[in-house]
Amino acid sequence: MSNYITLLRKHGVNPSLLKCPVCGKDAGIALCGRLPKDEEAPREMVGDILCNECQSVVDKKGLLIIAVRDGEKGHNPYRTGQIVGVTEECKNKFFKNCNSSICYMEETQFKQMFNTAQNEFNSESENCKQD
Ligand SMILES: [Zn+2]
Repeated sequence: MSNYITLLRKHGVNPSLLKCPVCGKDAGIALCGRLPKDEEAPREMVGDILCNECQSVVDKKGLLIIAVRDGEKGHNPYRTGQIVGVTEECKNKFFKNCNSSICYMEETQFKQMFNTAQNEFNSESENCKQD
């Protein structure tokens, strides 16, 4: 990649909004410059830059867990939309074999693991309201 951007008469710096590859929130802007056939950059694209929220989990040595449909395999499995970020302590305790900061988990296992935690959190929240 070159160190300069060609300003295009038609598309300017040819910007594209970068989406977080984990959660899909806005993560930055790519200045694409000239593309083959003078194409306009896509309005949005999934980049390799995490949004601030996801990056903070990674920075704290935590783990981002993305739920995927049961049986999905490969590089880009179908995601259910559920994402959980866990602390370094939790990662080391329950996900020792995970060498990455981001992993996929099948939906059934994800629900078994996190719906219980969600229910406990909700009931604790209810208790807090009664105090
Ligand atoms: Zn994100």
